[in-house]
Amino acid sequence: MKTATKKTSTNKNATTGRQAAPQASTNGKQSKAAFTKSQSRNEEDTTAGKEKQETRFEKLLLDLMKDIYWAEEHLVEALPKMAEAATTAELQEAFEDHLHQTQRHVKRLEKAFSLLGKKAESKKCAAMEGLVKEAEEVIKSTDEGSMTRDAGLIISAQKVEHYEIATYGSLVQVALTLGHDELADLFEKTLNEEERTDHRLTVIAESEVNPLADQEDEPEEVYAEMEEEVA
Ligand code: FE
Ligand code: FE
Repeated sequence: MKTATKKTSTNKNATTGRQAAPQASTNGKQSKAAFTKSQSRNEEDTTAGKEKQETRFEKLLLDLMKDIYWAEEHLVEALPKMAEAATTAELQEAFEDHLHQTQRHVKRLEKAFSLLGKKAESKKCAAMEGLVKEAEEVIKSTDEGSMTRDAGLIISAQKVEHYEIATYGSLVQVALTLGHDELADLFEKTLNEEERTDHRLTVIAESEVNPLADQEDEPEEVYAEMEEEVA
């Protein structure tokens, strides 16, 4: 389909954005080595009977977790609004499914905090606040029931997913380096779900939403033909 091909460039970022994740996957071996080193260091501390002090790198991990905990909770509030504003059933369903996943992401983070013997704590994430504001702007600046709105919402949602992919990719890596294997597993589960959501959004944009948005201002009969073509 010609139109679909023409419009894919907008969402290609989504696919190339996978570069954000390799921290988690490609450096796995290196980090296992670092893990062993760090683990033996911790064991020495325990044997010496010293109270285990939080290192600056451990504090960085905690700060990252507080940031993304705030972000995930913020998304639990934002996703229903995005689903409600969506024009197509496919996009609405994608947002609703991701809302359920996001609620699990919050729970996983709470588990991660408890594995570290910490209470779950959040710290305002300025980036996620800004990205959600952008999505709200898209809703305000596009017509209800239009495909252009869905195209804009998908782009906003993919910016959110990419932020999360970068964060969880880093969290996996940092957790492995610090020897927190169980935490790394939790973060990796979430990372995979964020990547799958990103991919699902790309498919919706490329196969349906973008081609239809491109034809939206064409005369009605041309648009109807286009709708049949992508159906
Ligand atoms: Fe998430
Ligand atoms: Fe997400």
